[in-house]
Amino acid sequence: MARLQILELPMVHNGDQTETPFVLVIDQADDGLADEIRNWPDDIARRVGARQVLSFAGTVDIPANDTSAYAAMTHAEPDFTGPLTGIEVRRPCPHCDDQQMIPRSQFAEHVARLHPDQPAVDA
Ligand SMILES: [Zn+2]
Repeated sequence: MARLQILELPMVHNGDQTETPFVLVIDQADDGLADEIRNWPDDIARRVGARQVLSFAGTVDIPANDTSAYAAMTHAEPDFTGPLTGIEVRRPCPHCDDQQMIPRSQFAEHVARLHPDQPAVDA
């Protein structure tokens, strides 16, 4: 099964406008598809907005298009049973002039260290 891929080229600035030119890459073009592509109109690249259309019988991997990590991520089931990881809950310190946001895990230590005259806080 042939694959259509976009190979982005370096961004081009034209005054206020920016454009990301690209090449349309068609790989795994077997079963006669390569011959078919050869018969596409000469202006096919312009018609699809690409700088060029390239086709290959073999496989061409474009690293920027590697979505395997994303695919693994989207197929993973969220785990709501364990403690929250990677999320830092913060609360504003009522004693700091700028209401600094302090991580909850460090709040008691923050109050004890910076506001020793205030009552101790439960963590
Ligand atoms: Zn504070």
